[in-house]
Amino acid sequence: MRREIFSDEHEHFRSEFRRFADAEIAPHVEEWNQNGISDRSAWRKMGQAGFLGANQPEEYGGSGADFLYDAIIIEELADLRAHALQASLHTDICIPYLTTFGTEEQKQKWLVPAITGECLVAIAMTEPAVGSDLAGVGTRAIRDGDEYVLNGSKTFISNGQNCDLVIVVAKTDPDASPPHDGMSLILVEAGTPGFEKGRNLKKLGLKGQDTSELSFMDCRVPVANRLGQEGRGFKMLMEQLQQERLVIGVGSMASCRRSFEDTLAYVKERTAFGRPIGSFQNTQFKLAEMSTEIEIGQAFVDKLLAAHVRGDDIVSEVSMAKWWTTDLQKKISSECLQLFGGYGFMDEYPISRDYADAAVQSIYAGTNEIMKVIIAKRMGLG
Ligand SMILES: Cc1cc2nc3c(=O)[nH]c(=O)nc-3n(C[C@H](O)[C@H](O)[C@H](O)COP(=O)(O)OP(=O)(O)OC[C@H]3O[C@@H](n4cnc5c(N)ncnc54)[C@H](O)[C@@H]3O)c2cc1C
Repeated sequence: MRREIFSDEHEHFRSEFRRFADAEIAPHVEEWNQNGISDRSAWRKMGQAGFLGANQPEEYGGSGADFLYDAIIIEELADLRAHALQASLHTDICIPYLTTFGTEEQKQKWLVPAITGECLVAIAMTEPAVGSDLAGVGTRAIRDGDEYVLNGSKTFISNGQNCDLVIVVAKTDPDASPPHDGMSLILVEAGTPGFEKGRNLKKLGLKGQDTSELSFMDCRVPVANRLGQEGRGFKMLMEQLQQERLVIGVGSMASCRRSFEDTLAYVKERTAFGRPIGSFQNTQFKLAEMSTEIEIGQAFVDKLLAAHVRGDDIVSEVSMAKWWTTDLQKKISSECLQLFGGYGFMDEYPISRDYADAAVQSIYAGTNEIMKVIIAKRMGLG
């Protein structure tokens, strides 16, 4: 079905971005997947071409455009299976913390180069012992005069090797009650003494995206590196999560379409028992079901995109979209792989990568179980 949320300008931007991505990103995806990390020069090219700040204010080097432009970038990168370059983590998840909560000085120092691609930003919430229960983080940032002293470990941090700046979720008041009142967001630059980037972790999927351990040992940063007020870290995180979850839903739907379209083409060509496998009723029903579910999911995500651009509070609805679209992506990638037969299990067939890459979608950005906890809470339960 024709999608109604995009104007001619959006579609023009899509063609422009696709031309750029076909030339500058697609040829490197395989190499990045082999290396377990993307090339920093690609980030700079993205920034120079204006693709890291479409939705950011013009005064800091962005384009001041609506979020649909960023959604287009997410969709096109997913279509190219360029998960190594998770631009949305940088532009739609990390940068907004600087835009929303940064002081003028912080914006000049980090937001401006983040938009040009010179300063790559990561966010470090998860720790070896704490993921879903964010208020339980053990990393501490204890004030000592004009500095905070950070101690603790983080894990599974996307862009953890490539990053220049990390938004660290830490306890500035470990005794606060309730615990989340003692949390703050502290900006730590790569190269700060006491801040170490650990292993680039080996993973089932998202092979080209660097996902790392980070550690802080008596790492001192100026108090001026605190983002927002002391003790408001948890609330700031909650305020930003709507967009983070929407981003996942947008990417999931684009990935579903990619898997589906490749499979549709394959079943028309592959033959068994003297006829195309697409002529078997099971294949037809599977693809008919997938096509139906993709239309339903896309209609919901598009409705949420429009609402998000309007500034509506859609926390429950994006949580619904996050769990539903990522479960759909897992189901579709699995069913498509099945239709490829043995070839679907081979690395050289991208459908096998779709299957592996889909697995994490229900885990990060808040697990799908946590999404249901949020939805239930907002219904007045629990
Ligand atoms: C590839 C990748 C990239 C990531 N990138 C980042 C990043 O950039 N920054 C970052 O901070 N983190 C990142 N993460 C971490 C991710 O956000 C966490 O893995 C996730 O939040 C889950 O936390 P956990 O792994 O500790 O699982 P746990 O919290 O231990 O959960 C284990 C299981 O228990 C379930 N569970 C937990 N609590 C409840 C509950 N109350 N009710 C029902 N079920 C529950 C979970 O849903 C899950 O199924 C990344 C993870 C991966 C795999």
